[in-house]
Amino acid sequence: MMRQFELVERVRSYDPNADEDAINRAYVYAMKMHGMQKRASGDLYFSHPIEVAGILTSYKLDTASIVTALLHDIVEDTMASLEDVRELFGDEVARLVDGVTKLAKLQIQNMEEKQAENFRKFVLAMSEDIRVLLVKLADRLHNMRTLHFITDPTKRRSIALETMEIYAPLAERIGMQEIKTDLEDLAFGELHPEARTSILARLRFLELHGGELVVKVMDELDQVMRRAGIEGFISGREKTAYSIWRKMQIKDVSFEQLSDIMAFRIMVDKPEDCYRVLGVVHTAYPTIPGRFKDYISTPKRNGYRSLHTSIIGPQRHRIEIQIRTHKMHEVAELGVAAHWRYKGSDLFGDDGAAKSVEGRQYSWLRELLDILEHAQSPQEFLEHTKLEMFHDQVFCFTPKGDLIALPRGASPVDFAYAVHTEVGNTCVGAKVNGRIVPLRTRLQNGDQVEVVTSTKQKPSPEWEGFVVTGKARAHIRRRVRTEARTEYIKLGHEILEKVFTKEGHALTNRGLAGVLDKLDVETIDDLYAKVGEGRLVGREVLVAVYPGARMDGGEDNIVNLSQARLRQTHEGSGSIAIRGRTTGMAIHLAECCHPLPGDRIIGIVVPDRGIEVHTIDCERLSDYTETPDRWVDLAWDADKDQDAHIGRVNLVVVNEPGSLGALSTVIARNFGNISNLKIAKRSKDFFEMSLDIEVRGVKHLTNIIAALRATPAINSVERARS
Ligand code: MN
Repeated sequence: MMRQFELVERVRSYDPNADEDAINRAYVYAMKMHGMQKRASGDLYFSHPIEVAGILTSYKLDTASIVTALLHDIVEDTMASLEDVRELFGDEVARLVDGVTKLAKLQIQNMEEKQAENFRKFVLAMSEDIRVLLVKLADRLHNMRTLHFITDPTKRRSIALETMEIYAPLAERIGMQEIKTDLEDLAFGELHPEARTSILARLRFLELHGGELVVKVMDELDQVMRRAGIEGFISGREKTAYSIWRKMQIKDVSFEQLSDIMAFRIMVDKPEDCYRVLGVVHTAYPTIPGRFKDYISTPKRNGYRSLHTSIIGPQRHRIEIQIRTHKMHEVAELGVAAHWRYKGSDLFGDDGAAKSVEGRQYSWLRELLDILEHAQSPQEFLEHTKLEMFHDQVFCFTPKGDLIALPRGASPVDFAYAVHTEVGNTCVGAKVNGRIVPLRTRLQNGDQVEVVTSTKQKPSPEWEGFVVTGKARAHIRRRVRTEARTEYIKLGHEILEKVFTKEGHALTNRGLAGVLDKLDVETIDDLYAKVGEGRLVGREVLVAVYPGARMDGGEDNIVNLSQARLRQTHEGSGSIAIRGRTTGMAIHLAECCHPLPGDRIIGIVVPDRGIEVHTIDCERLSDYTETPDRWVDLAWDADKDQDAHIGRVNLVVVNEPGSLGALSTVIARNFGNISNLKIAKRSKDFFEMSLDIEVRGVKHLTNIIAALRATPAINSVERARS
């Protein structure tokens, strides 16, 4: 175990200005807090954070990162709290420790191929500060090195799988090739021990028979370079067991068929030398077509630069050669961590501008460093770095642990549609982290979302107002449109039935089919829909089919207000039954009189809106006395109707303490539920207000009104009429 002064010395060797005191205090504090806790290896737990800090010193990370490494398990595994860390080590370290702790809590249960990319993004989004991820990667590397001490094979396997699918690719993404290769090879040993053993044995066998192939090839390449007068450094290696295995998998070939098991690297001082080396190599040996890549002129997204080529090389072996400068090599191995190395180095002038062409290539690293140092918040940092592409996303989990990535601002409805179209179409509610929430709730990173469905549910037009994903919006629109059409067709059919029957004519498909052209519709359903929508009056259809029928319909058919008041509407008396609440697409309860089940009602066909339902004494009905064709008899379909309805009342309440309390008590005692309250006027003595109350029907509302009238604090109560 590395001792305190050794760690401090290592940091000081690359950063003379490091905060020694902070590192010393963190070392002592972590040792004290972890106390006698043991690792699976039998070592003291404290050895782990020290090793992690040690790994990070080889990447020359700053003091805050080293301190964070020492403290990274302290909040999760000891009595220390994040507040303690903040008090002792400041905000920056507390923020970083918090980030690593959050990642530690992440339980990745489901590791399907398609999920892995989401998890990687999730880890990046959760990391916020790139140093959180660096500490996490070092933590994972040490845990993988000590993985064999864990006795439970299932646990070993799941850690190895997570390493292979999530952390190794993340290391690659931020350009840390060395960590990536180590993680992969360790995970490979756990996941496919036999494959690894046999590949290694095979490599040893080849070595025995072919001699030191790698050395021979290196010698020959060296001579070729010398003859051309180029100074360079050549390194060669067998590829790792894991990368050979990957090749065998991808290309579906056996080990014997796999020829390029060796990789060589030629490092030179200047970028232009890279191209000279390439020319020399390509002149000396046949190249393998399709394998040349120029990542110097077009660097990879993670900043990687190099030339790649494959040749039939010395001794007729197929080999891969990477050609790069020493500095490109450092960036390739260390990735983002390399930028600490260039801090204050001669690559940059005093103004921070890159001095040379090569320096300019590192400018993105320089920028990253500046942002790290000067950003006010993690958000600001994110906005400026490669991580920002995940900043506009939220990552949520299904109860089974599947990860769903959604745009920021997404609602449970978006989540439901992302899971499956049917889940979206039948979604009635949602639980987020175990609590019931409104469907318009905005989801947060890491939320676990459980969608409640019901086969009776249909997408609501209101959802369109808050969903953010195209998929959800498209499905809602489509369903609402078909839904509305079905209702209009049904309604149109009922209206025509009624009009035709009244005049003693039969409504037949044949009759209707003959007048489709005349009425400018394509199908009989279109005709029904047009009538249901109110764009065509029933009697026009009747006259079209039976030209002898009278357009005005005669005296007896004119429904005027006085007649309407007297008319009894019973179910089954030829009136159209409606389900109370309405709110199909085709039938709407009027806002003016708020009809309730039990009220006598009349329907008015409103073009493009369907039928508007009014109470029979609603004053608005006088607007329609001139257009009797628009009137439709309606009755409540009482049996099917169990929904709550909104009844609106206007009240005048005495302005004194307790009067509002009395009001709500009376309503609650009578099993009403106040859904909305609006104070219209407030004077010294009185409130004038309107209340929306959820009730079962008109009788229920009448009872509540009676009870309110009996309450002393309430001056007057009226059912709202407009
Ligand atoms: Mn750890």
